Amino acid sequence: MSPGPFVSFVPPPRLLMGPGPSGVDPRVLAAMARAPLGHLDPAFTSLMTDVAAMLRQVFGTGNPLTLAISGTGTAGMQAALANVVEPGDAVVVGVCGYFGARMAEMARRLGAVVKVVEAPWGTPVPAGAMEAALRATDGPVKVVAIVHAETSTGVRQEIEAIGRLARARGALLIVDAVTSLGGLPLSVDQDGIDLCYSGTQKCVGAPPGMAPLTAGPRAVEAMKQRRSPCTSFNLDLLQLESYWGAAKSYHHTAPINAVYALHEALGLLLEEGLEARHARHRRAHEQLARGMEGLGLEFLVAPADRLPMLNALRVPDGVDDGAVRGRLLTEHNIEIGGGLGPLAGKVWRVGLMGYSAREENVARFLTAMRIILGAPRMSRPRKPAPTA
Ligand SMILES: *Cc1c(COP(=O)(O)O)cnc(C)c1O
Repeated sequence: MSPGPFVSFVPPPRLLMGPGPSGVDPRVLAAMARAPLGHLDPAFTSLMTDVAAMLRQVFGTGNPLTLAISGTGTAGMQAALANVVEPGDAVVVGVCGYFGARMAEMARRLGAVVKVVEAPWGTPVPAGAMEAALRATDGPVKVVAIVHAETSTGVRQEIEAIGRLARARGALLIVDAVTSLGGLPLSVDQDGIDLCYSGTQKCVGAPPGMAPLTAGPRAVEAMKQRRSPCTSFNLDLLQLESYWGAAKSYHHTAPINAVYALHEALGLLLEEGLEARHARHRRAHEQLARGMEGLGLEFLVAPADRLPMLNALRVPDGVDDGAVRGRLLTEHNIEIGGGLGPLAGKVWRVGLMGYSAREENVARFLTAMRIILGAPRMSRPRKPAPTA
């Protein structure tokens, strides 16, 4: 730090249109700025009870064990896996992108015998391939894990058929809904999901920091039947239940202001209505798709498998990925994402999530892209055509 008076950090006014975090409604920011309460203050614990009830509505579940983990989406993933997976358990994971691969890696680190069912990045995992993998696995399968909305590719995964397969095999179904919750229809109870987690900073519309999670009766039973307690004290769901549930007994200090923010974001979400909200995400996506015509941009993913809230657009030939994103940020104050893994340098990831999923934002992004892609200095010099 330089000598002289301390200068507060004031973030530049970015429009967040990447893979998350997404923009936050000023009402949510205002809620977050209120004075913290004690973590066992009855006014705060009753707020937690309200948050849990709202989360049940958003998840489409009656599960008593529904709460928000203190930590980001990755902590939700860790909590879901670590509470039911024990060393030696068979776990089947569908992987068609970065986050599916992360689930597989976490299960491996928990000592599971992991079978990965892979599909190319840009397509979903076929239910038939999951079925074949389950059939080819000897002995019991503890968990089937899949990502609902693969943020690295913009692919939507059908859950229901995989839920049926998992149940028929006596396995628990864990679904990553980090990007889908609040943006895409999801019903934990109807889709037969045993453990589902999300994050606050994508379509839920709060800043990053918490991971909504719900666990059904079969998952709770598996936790109770463990040979040894969950190795993570911090993420032990049975203990967390005694903090979020009726007992209200101390486990850790909840991030009080993040809970205020989540409460406000969920209130706004439910006031808008789940269906209206999903429709808003779809409209923003359709507006983007229409506006892309004439810009030379194409989707990575086939229409039937596209996510509304995460649009992977192919970087046109001869265009410098990093330079375009750099200009969007510095000249237009718009953040979008680049590609991950095999898609690095090949796609842009345009997020239309939560508060960011609005017509005016899509229009602003399209205008900026028109300016940037129209400017000749965007193109890398092409190699001269080979002479015969
Ligand atoms: C963002 C994301 C995560 C990880 O969430 P963090 O909040 O970054 O920890 C996990 N899964 C999916 C599908 C995501 O999009």
